[in-house]
Amino acid sequence: MNVRKLYYDSAYQKEFEGTVVSCTEGKRGFEVVLDETAFYPEGGGQPFDTGLLGAVHVLEVHEKNGQIIHTTDGPLPVGERVHGAIDWERRFLNMQLHSGEHLVSGLIHQTFGYDNVGFHMGMEEVTIDFNGLLEWDDLMEIETRANTMIWENREIEAGFYTKDELRDLDYRSKKELTGEIRIVRIPDGDTCACCGTHVSCTGEIGLVKFTGMIHYKGGVRISLLCGKRAVADYERMRGQLHRISNLLSIRPGEAAEAVEKMKHEMAAMQGKLAECVRQMIEMKIRVLPESDKELYVIEKDFSAPQLRQFANRLLEEGKAKTALVLSENGEENFVYVLASRGGDMRACSKELNLLLNGRGGGSQEMAQGTFFKNKKALCAILKEKGFTDANAGC
Ligand SMILES: [Zn+2]
Repeated sequence: MNVRKLYYDSAYQKEFEGTVVSCTEGKRGFEVVLDETAFYPEGGGQPFDTGLLGAVHVLEVHEKNGQIIHTTDGPLPVGERVHGAIDWERRFLNMQLHSGEHLVSGLIHQTFGYDNVGFHMGMEEVTIDFNGLLEWDDLMEIETRANTMIWENREIEAGFYTKDELRDLDYRSKKELTGEIRIVRIPDGDTCACCGTHVSCTGEIGLVKFTGMIHYKGGVRISLLCGKRAVADYERMRGQLHRISNLLSIRPGEAAEAVEKMKHEMAAMQGKLAECVRQMIEMKIRVLPESDKELYVIEKDFSAPQLRQFANRLLEEGKAKTALVLSENGEENFVYVLASRGGDMRACSKELNLLLNGRGGGSQEMAQGTFFKNKKALCAILKEKGFTDANAGC
């Protein structure tokens, strides 16, 4: 028996009555077949509908061997009439996205001759793959044309045709089709073979907005939002911009310039800070006597380049034979740089790592890593190993 697909009579039918033809227990729930249904099964890139059949929830809908199988969370008695209600909000969002996809795919095909070779409708956005390269400006032109056609509120026609009837019609299709073919047509916009559900006039798409484009398999993958989802995205973006402009005490239209200016100021400030640290290191080194000792120095929140700079300068100025410069970055966390005139720092760091629960390594001349030990124990062990405390760190 052929099931009557009510969504082809009208994509706007939200409720219906059907008779339960069969109900069996499957892996993901009960599998219910009806004599007629308004539930759209997954297909043509469009997700399935969800909703209610009587008191049970419809979790998934798939078409298998000409039958439409509703996977439900409860059984239904065979032979009984049952009231069906689809989740209209979900369906209408899908209709907006799907119809918007037709419009832009048709315009891109018309303008650039590219085919839609991959289509994915997620709950958040649509991605479409085209077998040719586009620039962002090209997409913006398509977007303007698509939105103009939306505001013109053109009728979208859908119907079944035989191959003979379609002989002279140029339409987009992903695969070779047999039997009666369903054609969805937007006058001057697109003609495409498609089994999905669509809105009846372009105005209902509401809005199309491209949100991204990447190079993909020799062509491009574009991201698209339509209707309610595009408006929700606009509100998210407006919210972000509002927050940024409040934080910077500027008008929203000036946000990019203000952030750019802030980045320059921050870079200049980092340069000044680096110079201050360099001078501080020089001052600390100047007061130390020349020596052939193994010195250690403990600083707070120094970066690895600053630690290396400090260690190198200690050696250059002849203030130590071996310099161990540490940055206390928290309790039991000391990042270190170990440098020497003549010693083997790889071996030295290995030995200290063992004693100080550390990790890291390096070359003969310089090693770096982290010790995980409390400060008191760290100082005691370093002194025991012959290191002198250079800045009375402990
Ligand atoms: Zn379609």
